[in-house]
Amino acid sequence: MTTSRYGADRDTVAQFLAERGEPRYRVDQVVDGLYAQRQPIDNLTTLPLALRESIAGAFPLALEPIREQRDRRDTTVKWLWRTADGAQVETVLMRSPKRATVCVSSQAGCAMGCTFCATGQAGFERHLRADEIIEQVLRAQHASSQRVSNVVYMGMGEPLANVDAVFASCHRLHDELGLSARHLTISTVGVVPGMRRLAELDLPVTLAVSLHAPDDALRAQLVPLNDRYPIAEVLDAAREYAQLKGRRVTFEYACISEVNDHPAQADALAGRLTGFRGGAHVNLIPLNPTGGFAGRASDRERLEHFAARLQSAGVQATIRRNRGTDIDAACGQLRAREQTGRAQARESARMVP
Ligand code: SF4
Repeated sequence: MTTSRYGADRDTVAQFLAERGEPRYRVDQVVDGLYAQRQPIDNLTTLPLALRESIAGAFPLALEPIREQRDRRDTTVKWLWRTADGAQVETVLMRSPKRATVCVSSQAGCAMGCTFCATGQAGFERHLRADEIIEQVLRAQHASSQRVSNVVYMGMGEPLANVDAVFASCHRLHDELGLSARHLTISTVGVVPGMRRLAELDLPVTLAVSLHAPDDALRAQLVPLNDRYPIAEVLDAAREYAQLKGRRVTFEYACISEVNDHPAQADALAGRLTGFRGGAHVNLIPLNPTGGFAGRASDRERLEHFAARLQSAGVQATIRRNRGTDIDAACGQLRAREQTGRAQARESARMVP
């Protein structure tokens, strides 16, 4: 099997260069250029052109772009990639004056089946490897004038269902790209054994738990995994994480009008988020509409009311902008659109006499 560009470790690069009779200092030039400087191979002009070309040929990129979309202000860019074996994954770059954040996919598809999510509606394809996750960050970096400062594992897939590759990628982002551990955020729908393994990781990454409902009955309708790991167990594991790592845990809450955004639900949520070291922080995110789910996003008034109820009960709450709705920025939407388009094209082709 071919080793991908970001799957080639230092020893593999050293062996490749030695076989070509290159001096030893070239190893540092290649590795520092690709990771510490985060440059594409074509930009490493300290290397002779022929050598750049032979490295590019021997270690191909793992992701081929299918689509790229930018929002109107060019602060959000989204890519749909095809892997060597034909899986499709998405990556989003979000820029603000203060930071550049890359949202990566950890799996092609997802087995968790959250009913409001385009990725969940489409099912699971496979786990991504660490090099495929690293490549998403670096390809986004290559397109960004700002240095990427944050990586959030909130794209396609459940990161804690793919712990080996996800943890390996966290280590590499920290050690090779120089990202701070606290600027790496792992988001989970509550895979409790994965949360416990994350607590053992020797990097204090930020944990974000997608809650979406204050009670088990409603949460199970939105997040089927709740039947296996109910809210109380998920919150216990999150409390242990906060205690052990000394890090504040954040909670994601997709606000669906008239479903989970009633004032009484805010009170119930606040009642559950007690006993967290450093307090609990809730991010309220208006639902990103998908074709397979009938709910609609809460309006601004309901969001503000919900946030105020949480805050008056001592729980910090932030209303997040739904970035890039005009470019299908919620995970799985670009892929769903691409696949619907292909299905329609196949259908029309069949109809041609
Ligand atoms: S919300 Fe996350 S965990 Fe749930 S189906 Fe979508 S990608 Fe998977």
